[in-house]
Amino acid sequence: MPNLYFKTIAELAVMLDAGETSSVAITQAVIDRARAVDGQVKAFLSFDVKDALKQAKASDQRRSEGKSLGLLDGIPVGIKDTLAVKDYPLCCASKILENYVSPFDATCILKLRKAGAVIWGRLNMDEFAMGSSTENSAYQTTSNPWDLEAIPGGSSGGSAAALAAGEAIATLGTDTGGSIRQPAALCGVVGMKPTYGLISRYGLVAFASSLDQVGPFARTVEDAAILMEAMLGKDPLDSTSIAPKGETGYASVLKNKKGPWKLGVPQEFFGEGIHPEIKSNIEKAVEWYKAQGCEIVNILLPHSELAVPVYYIIATAEASSNLARFDGVRYGLRSDDSKDALSVFTKSRGEGFGDEVKRRIILGTYVLSSGYYDAYYLRAQKVRRLILGDFEKAFDRVDAILTPTSPTPAFKRGERSEDPLSMYLSDIYTISVNLAGIPAISIPSGFTKSGLPIGLQIIGKAFGEADMFAVAHAFEQGHSYTRQTPNL
Ligand code: GLN
Repeated sequence: MPNLYFKTIAELAVMLDAGETSSVAITQAVIDRARAVDGQVKAFLSFDVKDALKQAKASDQRRSEGKSLGLLDGIPVGIKDTLAVKDYPLCCASKILENYVSPFDATCILKLRKAGAVIWGRLNMDEFAMGSSTENSAYQTTSNPWDLEAIPGGSSGGSAAALAAGEAIATLGTDTGGSIRQPAALCGVVGMKPTYGLISRYGLVAFASSLDQVGPFARTVEDAAILMEAMLGKDPLDSTSIAPKGETGYASVLKNKKGPWKLGVPQEFFGEGIHPEIKSNIEKAVEWYKAQGCEIVNILLPHSELAVPVYYIIATAEASSNLARFDGVRYGLRSDDSKDALSVFTKSRGEGFGDEVKRRIILGTYVLSSGYYDAYYLRAQKVRRLILGDFEKAFDRVDAILTPTSPTPAFKRGERSEDPLSMYLSDIYTISVNLAGIPAISIPSGFTKSGLPIGLQIIGKAFGEADMFAVAHAFEQGHSYTRQTPNL
């Protein structure tokens, strides 16, 4: 029997209902596990043991009075350091927000609280969610629990690593270009990015607002569905949030839908740059679906090769505008060296932001400047529409699309940190999904010969989460990769 800290939400909910365990016992198990292994993994920037146990006690009290709030009641959920939790530090792993404490809860956090979840700790990330390895954190580098020399992926590397190491039962991350799916793939857990707008962005520190989405990391597709269900919905505090248009009730629906489905496989995703073991693993996954009676359709996403350059124009443009608010006056750090108003801005920003964030602010400012706006930003927006058009055409013919999540398994720390372009290619298979605003999930699909996890990405139609979860759940039922745990 696996330790409590490696169990799923669904399993723990049954045990809680049967009185076989308590939220305090689960939370304590996760705390003890974090104390035992986080010195090696370094997934957490901080955690508040007293507050977690207080929430757990309250959950047990509710349950004893017959007032349980449902499947998530009493479950510790780790939180990426970019989501606002009242009275907790909120730093986005940046020096510019050092010592900043959030005065309010993000909407997704409030919703988790309403579902009874225990809000647990602050998880490391790339500074302002810019990166693919969590090495851009201003505070620490996180290790991949499967190979402590390797990166966990990013930017939500802390969220993926903490879950894989058993330091939380589930976690939240954010995904602007792949930051949930890529680390999920590299750490051997499930990670999901919803349709744009399905989860409120209120209380998520903005990186690129037209791309950012909150989403769950979980041990199983069912757990991810449970978390999604708790967090989705229109929020008056985020004008881009939207009520679900398709089927919901994901956690039960995913078990009833059995296929067979029509599944698209884009040829462009298996060409140059893909690691041979990833290629053969994903081809095997495609074969598995075929053997279950699914129809495999070769599709074309001809503009996908433009996704990375388009993303780095749009995302940096939006970031340059969003990050203008960090001025040394309103939040966090103010340079001791500043002498007048202008130097408060320049010195605080100069000292507070790391290299990658500065690189992007400069690039974003450039593509928005009056002489270049039409040549870069406007053209990128047009290509973005073409990328969406490719998906729309494909979804006329198929129910979901299968691709690798990441072109390579986890690489060693330091291997790409001096080469931003090679780092940018980590998201080559995930970025077009954000540009199109559609949902996608990464699920474990096996291991390389050296024992590193591989992820299969399943892309759904806008608001097609129910089908996407069902396709993912079917694969999970036919394999045992999701329940394997690293030796730590
Ligand atoms: N790795 C991509 C980037 O660096 C995506 C990050 C994200 O999804 N937040 O921008």
